[in-house]
Amino acid sequence: MPLLSLVIPMHNESANLDALFARLDAALGRAGMAAEIVCVDDGSLDDTLARLKARTAQDPRLRVVALSRNFGKEIAVAAGLRFARGDAVVLMDADLQHPPEMIETFLAHWREGYRMVYAQRTDRRTETKRRRWAAGAFYRLFARIGEVSLPEGAGDFRLLDRAVVDVFNSLGERTRFNKGLYAWLGFKQIGVPYDVTERNAGTSGWNFLKLYRLAIDGIVAFTTVPLRIWSFLGVIVSLGAIGYGIYFLIKTLILGIDVPGYPSLIVAIMLFAGIQLISLGIIGEYVALMVAEVKRRPLYVISETHGFPAAQETVAGKAPAGGPDDQGPRGRRIA
Ligand code: UDP
Ligand code: MG
Repeated sequence: MPLLSLVIPMHNESANLDALFARLDAALGRAGMAAEIVCVDDGSLDDTLARLKARTAQDPRLRVVALSRNFGKEIAVAAGLRFARGDAVVLMDADLQHPPEMIETFLAHWREGYRMVYAQRTDRRTETKRRRWAAGAFYRLFARIGEVSLPEGAGDFRLLDRAVVDVFNSLGERTRFNKGLYAWLGFKQIGVPYDVTERNAGTSGWNFLKLYRLAIDGIVAFTTVPLRIWSFLGVIVSLGAIGYGIYFLIKTLILGIDVPGYPSLIVAIMLFAGIQLISLGIIGEYVALMVAEVKRRPLYVISETHGFPAAQETVAGKAPAGGPDDQGPRGRRIA
């Protein structure tokens, strides 16, 4: 009998667990497949992990992988995928923004032969204006310069066939942008439109403040960010130069020239200084990425696992880290 795995990253989702499992029970009942639910606790500070652990006693489908700290959603998903054994693997959020009822539709397409089925949000009305604007700007930029094209409104809510998961698990990079990876993987895929609902309980882990704090933490803990800061300074200096230029243009038109050639000299110096800083900063971005890859740190560290079948558990115990050679409990290479 084919197996369906759900992979659910969780960071402080305690308040959503009861509602989530109630909806999953109903949805999985209709799936017509054996199922396992791989929950990845991404360093929650609330009792998410304790409640998941307690639940494994009553629910034989439940598998719990606890990361040793908060590694972020992209990494939590990567960890979950290494532990999932299903022939089809569905990724979803724990906050019920991804309706479990869609799993049936995913499976129908999977049975038709699609290797990847992704949910496409029809609009972004559950998000703040600022976030919508930032997301819009990002996607426009990515569409222009990205080496893969991201389907509009497609996120992490998707089904991956075993073949796709195996390739995903073999990817060695540390710097993870899952949406880009899914697009890069290719395979026969199809989008299914859906309506995003509001978060069931709790708040989004992805607010702007968190990203900002993360940036500050990064500066303190690692040394690559000072390289990157130059691109930001470069933009500021260049904008200043343009503003300065416009100011002198208008001033010269109204009041006439005081020292000939002086303003244009200043503008040129500032503009080119800015451009040089931007280019240095961009080189810094790539050097920073190379530093992260060269260190070859594991993707994540596992602190504990629960609910895995005995055979899988021992291998899981041997696999504390997610390096490229570590295929998780499915892997034969680590045994
Ligand atoms: N999440 C995670 N680690 C984090 C932040 C979030 O595993 O550092 C999980 C979270 O528990 C949820 C999913 O990722 O299941 C989506 O997070 P969230 O709802 O905060 O993001 P949004 O819906 O706002 O994109
Ligand atoms: Mg959410």
